[in-house]
Amino acid sequence: MKLTHFPIEFTQAKPVLQAITSAGYQAYFVGGSVRDALLGKPLHDVDIATSAYPAEIKQIFKRTVDTGIKHGTVTVLQQGQAYEVTTFRTESAYQDFRRPDHVTFVRSLREDLKRRDFTINALALQHDGTIIDLFSGLADLKTRLIRAVGDPNQRFHEDALRMMRAVRFKSQLNFKIESQTQTAISNQHQLLKKIAVERVHDELIKLMLGKNWTAGLNSFIATQLYQTCPGLSTAKKALFALTTLPTVPLKTESAVWLLFAHQLGLTPKTVKPFLKQWKSANNIIQSVSRSLPLLDKFLAQQNLSNWDYYYTGLPIVLLANQIAQLYGLGAAPAQLQKRYHQLPIQQRRQLALDGGDLLHHLALQPGPQLGELLAKLEQQVVAGNLPNNRQALLQSARSMLN
Ligand code: ATP
Ligand code: MG
Repeated sequence: MKLTHFPIEFTQAKPVLQAITSAGYQAYFVGGSVRDALLGKPLHDVDIATSAYPAEIKQIFKRTVDTGIKHGTVTVLQQGQAYEVTTFRTESAYQDFRRPDHVTFVRSLREDLKRRDFTINALALQHDGTIIDLFSGLADLKTRLIRAVGDPNQRFHEDALRMMRAVRFKSQLNFKIESQTQTAISNQHQLLKKIAVERVHDELIKLMLGKNWTAGLNSFIATQLYQTCPGLSTAKKALFALTTLPTVPLKTESAVWLLFAHQLGLTPKTVKPFLKQWKSANNIIQSVSRSLPLLDKFLAQQNLSNWDYYYTGLPIVLLANQIAQLYGLGAAPAQLQKRYHQLPIQQRRQLALDGGDLLHHLALQPGPQLGELLAKLEQQVVAGNLPNNRQALLQSARSMLN
């Protein structure tokens, strides 16, 4: 079969393939980009596989970077683009159910495609559009199946992360997992424990940000993969409830964790250790713990106060609202934006007076009293109880002091 319509990314990268083949080696587009091109989806990274060894690639191109030379990857810089060119390789010595750290370079495309995870990811594309399909990936693309290359039990035993990749591709592509592949995941789900939590995290987030996340999550539960994950092992019921929500796409990693946190009944305090276990970034932990109380308000159909908007800020309000909307509550984002911009002030520096003014006019000493006074004025202004002008603020400060 031939790919007739080349996406622009492939057309741009074609000279790289041609330069390698002109030098007497084989070169193909491989992996996710070939799969996505055949599905008519946008491509993100164009990966090239070649029979040339890294040193040979470096002789062909003027500008290269040794990105992962140990694993056979050289980045070729061409026309302002960067392409990862990786030597055909096999991964023989798997240790502890994780990606091997030693690879063997080979000259055979078949060997390289054989080590790939799923048949739909094991297609190669030649510069003239010819598809090389040694493991029936085209048939599986057509019938929308995620099927391990070779014996699924062995493949998941070699690298347990592949099990998470299967459920995440289910979500991203809206494919089914082929039954023997699915059974192998169920049987070996425990192996996922051997994988670094950061890598499981990345796959779980990709799953949840996928278009069909409820379906992906369903397989994550059905195969029992969730049992090996931090903070989720006893949460089957709560997780399952998530799969009954409408499959509205989630937009950010924070939205994903906020949804989990809510469903697991976590609080701003307990969500922190939960996310620490997942090695989440601090800014994500902060967004999630700050948005939880707002989400509770949306779900209880309570109005947010001016202070809620002011103190937590618009992005966090919108984050909580996004999840509330999944539950059929919350408001139109434009309405929340409007409300935020109508606040008397959005930041403390917009207050019509500062600490210096209070010291000067009220003969105060610097200290906690000053801070408290300013905070009270700020709250009154934000709540709309006090106009934001110097005279009114000074007068109010005086009466508070008395
Ligand atoms: P994405 O759209 O997320 O980039 P992808 O399929 O391109 O999906 P990558 O992680 O970019 O995924 O990997 C590129 C290719 O490398 C895959 O398509 C697959 O052929 C192979 N691959 C990646 N990870 C594994 C793995 N754990 N085991 C076997 N093959 C893998
Ligand atoms: Mg990719």
